[in-house]
Amino acid sequence: SLPVATDGGRPSLPAGVERRSFDGRERLATRGPTVYGEPSDGEWRLWDAGRSKLGAMLALGMDTGLAGGESVLYLGAASGTTVSHVADFSGPTYAVEFAPRPTRDLLGVAEDRQNLFPLLKDARKPATYAHVVESNLDVLVQDVATRGQAEVALRNRQFLADDGRLLVAIKARSEDVTADPSDVFESVLGELETGYEVLETERLDRFHEDHLGIVARPR
Ligand code: SAM
Repeated sequence: SLPVATDGGRPSLPAGVERRSFDGRERLATRGPTVYGEPSDGEWRLWDAGRSKLGAMLALGMDTGLAGGESVLYLGAASGTTVSHVADFSGPTYAVEFAPRPTRDLLGVAEDRQNLFPLLKDARKPATYAHVVESNLDVLVQDVATRGQAEVALRNRQFLADDGRLLVAIKARSEDVTADPSDVFESVLGELETGYEVLETERLDRFHEDHLGIVARPR
C-alpha cells in the first residue's frame, strides 16, 4: 500500500508522535513522563533523534509504517531511552535487554508505563522469552549494536505477524571495525533478505555515524 503523505510528501508520523517547538525548533515529541532529563512542557517531551535511532529514522522521514497503537518487540532496550518513547505511542511493548545494569534503569521506566514489559534476556535466544512475548506482533524494533545483527533479526522474525514491520538500525562498526560501512551494510542486507523483504534503507549519519536504518517486512 502507498504511504499516506500529509506533510510535503513525507510519510505521516504515528499518532502520538508530533513535531513540537522546543527552544524555537521543531522537534519530535511524545506524551509521557520524562526519563532521561529531556525537555518537557509537562505533557509532551522531546524525543531526541541524536539519542535514538528510531527517532532518527522518523526525523529523516523514513516510512516506518507506524500508525500508533501497535504491539511491539524492542530488542536492545538499554536503559529505556527510545523504548520509553515507543511505549508512549504504542500498545503492549516488550523490551529485551541482556545487560543487568541498564535493565535496572529500564525497570524504573516501566514503573511509569503500564504497557512496557522489560525482559532481562539475550535477543539471540528467543526461545528463552517466547513463553512471555505474544506472537503476531505488529512491529519488531532492533538496536542491539552487536556482531550478527542480521541474525538477531532473523531469529526474532517468529514473533512478527506476516504483515508486520521490522525497523532496525545497523551499526557498521559492531560487525567489523575496519571494513567500509557501505560494504558492511550490503552484506547485512543480503543476509536479512533471506527472511525479510527490505522496503527502505537510509543512512542515519546525520544523527548516528555509520548506522543504517532499515524498514522491512517478513517474507
Ligand atoms: N536502543 C537503545 C536506545 O535507543 O535507547 C540503545 C541501545 S544500545 C545502542 C545497544 C544495546 O543492546 C545495549 O544496551 C546492549 O547491552 C544491548 N544488546 C546487545 N546485544 C544484545 C543481545 N544479544 N541481547 C539483548 N541485548 C543486547
